[in-house]
Parts: sequence; structure tokens; C-alpha cells
Amino acid sequence: MMETPVLETPTAIDQVLKRLSRPTLTGILQVQQGIVRATHEFMFKKGLTQVMPLMLSPITDPLNHGVVDASIPYADKRWSLTKSMIFHKQLALLNPALESLYIVSPNVRLEFADRAETGRHLFEFTQIDFEFKNKDRFYVMEFMEDLVNFVFARLNVELPEQLLQLRGELLPQYEKWPVHRTEKLEAALGPDYEMLQSKLSDSPFWLLNHKREFYDKEDQMKPGTYLNYDLIWPEGFGEGLSGAERENEYKQILKRMTETGTNKEIFKDYLEVAKKGVLPRTAGAGFGVERMTRFICKVKDIDDVTVFQRKPGHASMF
Ligand code: AMP
Ligand code: MG
Repeated sequence: MMETPVLETPTAIDQVLKRLSRPTLTGILQVQQGIVRATHEFMFKKGLTQVMPLMLSPITDPLNHGVVDASIPYADKRWSLTKSMIFHKQLALLNPALESLYIVSPNVRLEFADRAETGRHLFEFTQIDFEFKNKDRFYVMEFMEDLVNFVFARLNVELPEQLLQLRGELLPQYEKWPVHRTEKLEAALGPDYEMLQSKLSDSPFWLLNHKREFYDKEDQMKPGTYLNYDLIWPEGFGEGLSGAERENEYKQILKRMTETGTNKEIFKDYLEVAKKGVLPRTAGAGFGVERMTRFICKVKDIDDVTVFQRKPGHASMF
């Protein structure tokens, strides 16, 4: 009688080894490296000063959605792992000689497992975060449009073979990006307006006026609207950057903290600084490096952009 061969089911270790050996990874990483390299050059040309990232602080971005707590005790305090460096950008720009800055900033956001299949969420990622003193939203939006064209042109010159292999064509240069407003798109397309418009678009576009964290400036001419903007990647890739003009006046910060249910006790030292009236007027933004890589390489799941698995809710081995 013939013996039926026993097929070994791959162990978890085998799966990790397969993931580490996947053939497309090197090209994707080279593109990602190219994004960071070109971004550094663009920032330098535009005069922004680089600040090194921090991973721990008594305050971090409260975000406008829940995540699992990532804080640790140290020196009689609780320190949060960085969710974004929004407050550090604002505080660093207190220095009268510093006009603008950027940070290649690791962010830990322990997203709930229901974000595992969005294709856009990791539980840690890198954000390129930048901020300008005395500039407005129009300046930052144009800056980002120029940055994208600069990075894309660089990648076409430096990595044409990788781009052709991964996305089947070189990267485009965009004209001025279309601008939409959340309330108008929602009225036209319903609650899933952001993703629907992303699927309908073949160019990145801006989405203005999101109701979210207290630090995005409220329009004093039109209370209840906000001077913020998101870059939405086209072809269903969704959000790639969020930014805003920032609240810097004490009373308005307090009002917005109350409205958003922010814990004022955690922010007491930040509020002391705001009370002194020394927070500068700033505007800025941050874009996800892995999300830009995903869009450029046309990768369905952002988790395939990273070497090690960082899928929300998944117990990664390494
Ligand atoms: P936010 O200010 O919260 O919008 O974060 C800034 C940018 O970081 C977003 O526009 C995304 O590009 C990126 N980002 C935010 N959360 C995640 C995540 N969980 N995984 C990967 N990238 C993210
Ligand atoms: Mg956002």
C-alpha cells in the first residue's frame, strides 16, 4: 500500500521566515528610503531645521479616536509613548530664531484590532511632521503639493526600475490639487465620503474642515468650522496627511479642550505655558511615510510595506 505523504502545515516561525524573505520587499524599502532621502533634501532647501524625535513625554497627541494605553511610570510621572509630536513642534517654535522645523518621528498608536483590515493602519509607524511659524493653511498646502512633486520626480530619476516593477509606470507630476470640504462631500456622498471620493479621484486632493482634536484652530469668523486640511491619496488609498493652523490662545484652547472632553490635568504644564501667552502662531502637518510608500508602490495592505508585522491587534513575533 502506498503511504500518503504527510504535509507539514507551516508553523508560525515558517510564516515569519517567508515574510522576511518576500521578493518585493527590497524594492519597496528602496522606494521608502528614496522618499525619506528626497524629503530631507526638500526640507533643507526650504530652510526647515531638523529636530530629533522623542519617544516619551508626559503629554502626547490625544488623537480623535481611542487606542490602547501606551504609558509607563518613570521619575514619579507617567510618560506616554509618542502618538505624535504636535505639542513639541509648537513649543520648540517658541525659540525666536526658529521659523520652521521637521521631525522624522516614530509614532506608537496601539490601534484596536478593528483597524487591522483597513489597509492603512499599523500600530507603530513613522510620521514626517513639520511646522511653520506665522504661516497659514494655504502656505502649508502648497508646500506639501511641491514636496510630493519633488519626491516623485526624484524617485523617477533614482529608482525607475523599482517603480516600473512595483507600480507598472513612473510617477506623475500633479497640477494644483482639487479642494473639497467635509460637509459638502458628506452631503453629496454620505458618511463614507472620504473613501468614496478617494476611489473616484486620480489625483491627490485636499479635504478641509474636520471636527477633531482641540489643537486644530477653529475659524473665528465661522465658529464650528476648523482651519485644518487632510491630503487624501487617490485610487482608494485614503488619508495620507493631516494638518492645521493651530490654536495658540489660552482661552480658546480651554474652550476647545472642554468641547473635545480632553483631560486638562494631564495638560496642566502645557496650559501654564499657553496662559503666559507665549505659544506662537503656527501651522503644519504630518504625513505617514508607510502610507506614502504604500500609495507609490500600489500595495493593498500597509502591513506589506514594513519588514516586521505591525498589524493592529496582531501578536507579532518580532
Ligand atoms: P494624524 O495626525 O493622526 O492624522 O496622523 C498623521 C498621519 O500619520 C496620517 O495622515 C497618516 O498618514 C499617518 N498615520 C496615522 N495613523 C496611522 C497608523 N495607525 N498607521 C500608519 N500610518 C498612520
Ligand atoms: Mg488624520
